[in-house]
Amino acid sequence: MSATHPAYLWWNGEQVAWEDATVHVTAIGWSSVSAIFEGIKAYWNDEREELYVFRLDAHLERFLRSQKLMRMEREYSVAQLSDAIVALLRANECRYDTYIFPLAFASGAGFRALSQSGGAKTSITITTRPSPSHLLKGEVKTACVSSWTRISDNVMPPRVKNISNYRNSQLASAEAAYNGYDTPILLNTQGKVAEGPGSCLMVVRDGQLITPGVTDSILESITRSSLLELARDLGLEAVERTIDRTELYIADEVFMCGTSAEITPIGMVDHYTIGDGGEGPITTRLERAFHDAVRGKDERYARWVTPVGAAKAVPAD
Ligand code: PMP
Repeated sequence: MSATHPAYLWWNGEQVAWEDATVHVTAIGWSSVSAIFEGIKAYWNDEREELYVFRLDAHLERFLRSQKLMRMEREYSVAQLSDAIVALLRANECRYDTYIFPLAFASGAGFRALSQSGGAKTSITITTRPSPSHLLKGEVKTACVSSWTRISDNVMPPRVKNISNYRNSQLASAEAAYNGYDTPILLNTQGKVAEGPGSCLMVVRDGQLITPGVTDSILESITRSSLLELARDLGLEAVERTIDRTELYIADEVFMCGTSAEITPIGMVDHYTIGDGGEGPITTRLERAFHDAVRGKDERYARWVTPVGAAKAVPAD
């Protein structure tokens, strides 16, 4: 890896040197209206000297669902993309926590590529970059309920990772930042809690873990479903149901979750202090369990992680 980027990325079936991966200025699909993506995280395990990709198949299955919903051609299977990612992580000798970014966009010039109609060809790139984890670092953030409404299924489906969806996220994040909060929480068109700009949301009330359902205008988040499973394995009651805005204000604990957000405790929402304003005890239990699962330290969740193997430097002959 150079100071700024890894040596290679993957592009339509081949590893390409980073500097050689360019698109023409007329390739309008690249301008992202016609793009879908995934965000995947790999965690370095120091003791085992191994990099583990968290829930690789689940992410790639969602990648293919995003392509299907946006009527993009699906030239590569989950197995092919999975092999490409593992090979890329090896080629880039990723011995650190890494974010993996597969992107599919309509290739070619003009409005055909932009509108995705008439069978525009799809191009796929996969890039990697260092992404240090903030799990167990004790960071607590502030949030506000956004004045922007979360996009809805009949407008721009939030259940998939359509790049255009993030314009909605961006408006809410900018507003929150201007008003001095770390993150917004978006309500859906029904006025119920949906999610954060790039994360799902969970609350704890009277020992019960609660998160909005997949029909409440949220991304079908892989962290969310993993945490529901971990919570139940810890003996906690975990439910998916609609959450009212005011439940945020009286919750015992609130946290955001996602591939990048990991587990981000929220200590204040709209100036209502949540619990004692720090990280709550159930959040901490889940965070520890999640940390051990993603780093390949808990054998019970070995099925969730893909060891990259030869991320270790290959010895010279
Ligand atoms: N909602 C949105 C809008 C997101 O961008 C993300 C991050 N991918 C999430 C939720 C969390 O999803 P996941 O756990 O699959 O990363």
